Formats: sequence, structure tokens, C-alpha cells
Amino acid sequence: MLPDLAIAHDFSLKSCNTFGIDARARRYLRIHSVAELAAALANPSLAGMPRLLLGGGSNILLTGDFDGVVLHMAIAGRAVLGERGGHTLVRAAAGENWHAFVQWTLAQGLGGLENMSLIPGTVGASPIQNIGAYGVELKDVFDAVTVYDIASGQLRSMDAAACRFGYRDSIFKHADGAGLVIVDVTFALPTAWAPNLRYAELAQAVAQAGMAAPSAQGISETVVAIRRRKLPDPAVIGNAGSFFKNPVVSSARCRDLLAAFPALVHHAQADGSEKLAAGWLIDQCGWKGRNLGAAGVYPKQALVLVNNGGASGAEVLALANAIRDDVAARYGVTLEAEPVFV
Ligand SMILES: Cc1cc2nc3c(=O)[nH]c(=O)nc-3n(C[C@H](O)[C@H](O)[C@H](O)COP(=O)(O)OP(=O)(O)OC[C@H]3O[C@@H](n4cnc5c(N)ncnc54)[C@H](O)[C@@H]3O)c2cc1C
Repeated sequence: MLPDLAIAHDFSLKSCNTFGIDARARRYLRIHSVAELAAALANPSLAGMPRLLLGGGSNILLTGDFDGVVLHMAIAGRAVLGERGGHTLVRAAAGENWHAFVQWTLAQGLGGLENMSLIPGTVGASPIQNIGAYGVELKDVFDAVTVYDIASGQLRSMDAAACRFGYRDSIFKHADGAGLVIVDVTFALPTAWAPNLRYAELAQAVAQAGMAAPSAQGISETVVAIRRRKLPDPAVIGNAGSFFKNPVVSSARCRDLLAAFPALVHHAQADGSEKLAAGWLIDQCGWKGRNLGAAGVYPKQALVLVNNGGASGAEVLALANAIRDDVAARYGVTLEAEPVFV
């Protein structure tokens, strides 16, 4: 028998998105289990409505009211599964808070996720854009994901190859992954842990803190301190973290740009391409600290767009478009947004 569902009508999503946009959903319900998910998808009163899967709402921009049903993922649970080939396998359900999960793994004595401490959102959304920070990406510690396939009504497991992870990208952001709901994620954490301090700013901060042999917990605390210093707290000022991806260009294109703009910030990639710093491009166009209506560019970090209070999604979008146009006109580089527009 399908479980009863608590379906809310005309629901404000203001507290469900870190931008703090006050958009409304026609229908809204929290999903606590796979059975509830199946029941919601089979519910005749919700049939035919557009669907939005929602985690922590930290990577979406609500551009207006949502005339459909929001399925807010709240499935809980986490477990250490055991060891395999030099790794400890750890599983967490989609609705678990990412940072709380990272802290929990550290409390179990398991390192591997510490560089990604304090990324907002849920475990279930972590594979969607292959989250990453301070030299580590989700794909580096990923084992498998369990998905509920809406078309077949079946659960299945997908490995890293099936997820097609890329820079802030995966199958789940594309048409062939759109009908898949992530139910849980399994991580493979190294049994013989070693710190990953390849990211220069992190290595410097760890050294400055006097940690000669840093622990995973120590690195986590350092990452948290850096992030608190650099990024606005969504509880205080609405934002979705980096609003644009760092554009990747060919080495020839980068050389041309360097000839015109010698100070261009760029990082060589393993495949020979070059990653440009979107924040630098935006800053050079004079946007850092500027506002358009109630939306603005964070004064300390040009990559972060903020809601200065009462901004609508349309205002944030207008600001993003103005920035994108300026960067394209000056550098011939098209910025791609990181958050999902709803
Ligand atoms: C201050 C700040 C700092 C940030 N820093 C970083 C960073 O360092 N690195 C980084 O990579 N990101 C960063 N982000 C972005 C964001 O935290 C991540 O993308 C996070 O994984 C989003 O999780 P969420 O649960 O909030 O997803 P949501 O915003 O709720 O959803 C994002 C997308 O995933 C889909 N989705 C959500 N749950 C599921 C599910 N269970 N199954 C299928 N689809 C689902 C949604 O439909 C939507 O398309 C930052 C955001 C903020 C606000």
C-alpha cells in the first residue's frame, strides 16, 4: 500500500533556497523514503505537473513561481558498509546534509571528504554537478549512486563511468539523466589516508596554522575557516556560491587572450586546455560590489551574486545576463551559469 502524503498547496519556497527568493510552488511535499517518492510519482492529483526535485536549494535560482510540484528530498540515513580494496565504503541517503555527513565521516576516523567541508546542500545533490573544492572533486571519492528511475519505477545502481562526471557536470544535468532521482550515494574513502594539499591556498593556511602533520579533522577546520572568511553565509545574505563556472578554453585561445590581457588569470589543465578565472574576468569588467536593483555582486568575491534583500529571481537573472554580456564583449568568452534555473 502506498503511504499517505502531506501535500501543501501554494507553498512559499523562500526558506528552501539559499538565495532566499520568495517564489511559490503550486504543490510541495517532503519525501522521507523511496515508498513516499513512488507514491508521489503515482499520485493522480500530481500527475502531469512539472516536477522539481529539491535538496538544500543551494544551487538553484528560482526565476519565478513554480507551477508544478516540488519534491523536497528528506530521506535520512548513513552507514559504514565495510572495506574493499584499500577503501572504506560509506553510504548516505539523499536527504542528509552534506557538511553534517562530512563531519560524521571524520568522527568515524575516516578521511577523504575534508577538503569539501562546508559545501551547502544535500548528499543527494552532490553528484549532480560533481561538487568540488580545494583540490578535490566528488568523483575522486565516489563509488556508486542508487537512483530511482521514474520511467521504469525501478531502483538501480550507477558507477562513476555511468555518471559521466566532468567539471561541475554529470549525466544528471543532461536529458538522459533527467528522469533519475538520486536516493543514496556510496563513497570510497582511502583506508590509508594522506592529506591532499595540492591547492596552494589550503597548503598555505595549514602551514600557517602550524600543522606539521595535519589530520583530516585539522584540514576540515582549516577549510571551514577559509570558507567562512571568503564566502557570504546564506543564512545572512542570500547567494548560491559561485554563480558562474570557470570557462575552459583551448591553449591557442588562451595565448591570444594573454597577448591582449597579460594579467589574465589562467590554469593549465591536464588535457592541454586552460581554465580561466571567471571571478577575475567579472572583476576586470568592474562588477565587483555593484548592484542592479536588489541583486548584487559580492564585494569580496566577484563570482558570487547576492540577494541584498527582497531580490526577485528575475532581478538576479538580469544581473547575471548583464555580467555575461560585458565579459563576452570584452574577452569574447561566454560565461556559463553554475546554478540550475527553475
Ligand atoms: C555559499 C555557497 C558555497 C558553495 N560552494 C560550493 C563549492 O565549493 N563547490 C561546489 O561544487 N558547489 C558549491 N556550492 C553549490 C551547492 O552547494 C552544491 O551544488 C550542492 O551540491 C547543491 O546541493 P543542494 O542539495 O542544495 O541542491 P539543490 O540546489 O536543491 O538542487 C540542485 C540540482 O540538483 C537536483 N537535485 C537535488 N537533489 C536531487 C536528487 N536527490 N536527485 C536528483 N536530482 C536532485 C535539483 O533538481 C537541482 O537541479 C555552494 C553554494 C553556496 C550557497
